[in-house]
Amino acid sequence: MMITDAHRVILRINSAFTETTGYHPDDILGQTTSLLKSGRHDRAFFTAMQDSILRDGAWRGELWNRRKNGELYPAWMSISGVRDRHGTITHYVSSHSDITLRKAAEEEISHLAFFDPLTELPNRRLLMERLRRALASSLRNTGEGALMFIDLDNFKLLNDTLGHDKGDLLLQHVAQRLLGCVRDSDTVARIGGDEFIVLLEQLSEQATTAALQTEAIGEKILAALNVPYDLAGQVHYSTPSIGITLFGEHKSNETELLKRADLAMYQAKAAGRNTLRFFDPKIQELVTAHSRLETELRQGLLQEEFVLYYQAQVDSARRFIGAEVLVRWQHPRRGIVPPAEFIPLAEATGLIRPLGQWVLDTACRQLVVWAGQPALAALTIAVNVSASQIQRPDFVPQVLTVIALTGANPRLLKLEITESMLLTDVEDIILKMTALQAHGISFSLDDFGTGYSSLSYLKRLPLDQLKIDRSFVRDVLTDPNDAAIVRTILALGHSLGLSVIAEGVETETQCAFLAGLECHAYQGFLFSRPIPLEEFESLVAHQHEGQRLAG
Ligand code: C2E
Ligand code: MG
Ligand code: MG
Repeated sequence: MMITDAHRVILRINSAFTETTGYHPDDILGQTTSLLKSGRHDRAFFTAMQDSILRDGAWRGELWNRRKNGELYPAWMSISGVRDRHGTITHYVSSHSDITLRKAAEEEISHLAFFDPLTELPNRRLLMERLRRALASSLRNTGEGALMFIDLDNFKLLNDTLGHDKGDLLLQHVAQRLLGCVRDSDTVARIGGDEFIVLLEQLSEQATTAALQTEAIGEKILAALNVPYDLAGQVHYSTPSIGITLFGEHKSNETELLKRADLAMYQAKAAGRNTLRFFDPKIQELVTAHSRLETELRQGLLQEEFVLYYQAQVDSARRFIGAEVLVRWQHPRRGIVPPAEFIPLAEATGLIRPLGQWVLDTACRQLVVWAGQPALAALTIAVNVSASQIQRPDFVPQVLTVIALTGANPRLLKLEITESMLLTDVEDIILKMTALQAHGISFSLDDFGTGYSSLSYLKRLPLDQLKIDRSFVRDVLTDPNDAAIVRTILALGHSLGLSVIAEGVETETQCAFLAGLECHAYQGFLFSRPIPLEEFESLVAHQHEGQRLAG
């Protein structure tokens, strides 16, 4: 209890006050109540308090105070104003109690209401709450979301044979592993015995991509939960069955979504467990085709089903100056598969690294073979490099190792990078390019004009060449915008001291137009399509022979 005058100067306290705050009368009498302020409440809080006392004669509520030792504590406080016979407030009497323990108990209760005590994961109630919010935000910003229903296979058997303690341990391990598979913004919940839910948010707006993103996370979870468990010294193997549904059209109904994920989980069980299934058969089909292709791609790499096609690059006299190597997949059933059908998947799965390594290695060995043949010895080979290759920390040593092992002349090797790579960590890429350039390797910026190159770092990139994208070349004669872009790229190249090559040149008129703009290097069907090595070599030999006879 505390009594102050109208100016909040403390006049009297009781022993309970000393007990709670640590202040003895000697410390505090004559001081104002601001000594007790925690700093957690703003001016508006105290104004409202004052208004309430003036209006109703009293204020009651929760308030944070500061003890003598500096510690903050929550108090339940009631303050009344004492008025004289004119109605003027002369004193304040306040009583307050420390509610630290009650507050902690409240928090504990709300934690129990929303979290699973065993795993500390959100429980069904909190999950449904978060799901409702996720659905609402997905309606607003159109990013897709997904719900995964994860059930442990044969969990009951573990409980029955090894006991509930081991069962509890397994559930705790599973909870930790699940958390390790998702982003902080996703939710992992436990909604029953061995049933977990993963709620993914902010996936791609595009349904196919969202399905593949979800599948990738599902596969990651499958792999993580398949790793053997250490249950207090006992090795245990466990597998999950996973049912998945994308929010899709059902953005308003959380129970329906949970039901779908549950049904899909039963399909995973029916399919033999330790697998995942999507509720929507169309999405399941898409995902299955995707993973079949991935398996085939892995096998294709092992069985060397890939070949390089060579597409000529020529100068303004149409002499061969080099070739771009373009990878093809000789699929046992489907025949020659173009890169557009497998490079994106190879990039998404990381298989682009071994594939890219193979391409680079094959190209370098070809340079060495050509070095011994006069007609071919001066030709450069351009190799396409993917973003995920160049981003690897060991990209530079890997390229240098290939050069060293094959003995290829680095001055004849050109790496093609694309503008989109420059969107992430351009500084790192500049460092790597500079390191390789120091060894004689050159760089060409592929598909130039289609991305968002900032001119400022274009100047800083150690480039040798810009490659005008074929979309501009295609309509250069008919679309004045494309003509203007081509003209600009050429001017840019000249002023930055870079050579410029036009790709996708198909007609004589396109070629003549480009020549008129001072473009002196070309690649396109007009000169040669991408063709197998032997065909390319005989094409070059033919030209060489012609020149020799003419000379
Ligand atoms: P890119 O590097 O821009 O390759 C040029 C593409 O344009 C090639 O398609 C080529 O066949 C095509 N092309 C060339 N001249 C003409 C023309 O006159 N008219 C038309 N309509 N098309 C022409 P391709 O071989 O299907 O390759 C497509 C893309 O696949 C390449 O685009 C490249 O980004 C990627 N790619 C190919 N091989 C590799 C590789 O070994 N590694 C990586 N990372 N990507 C590769
Ligand atoms: Mg290219
Ligand atoms: Mg290109």
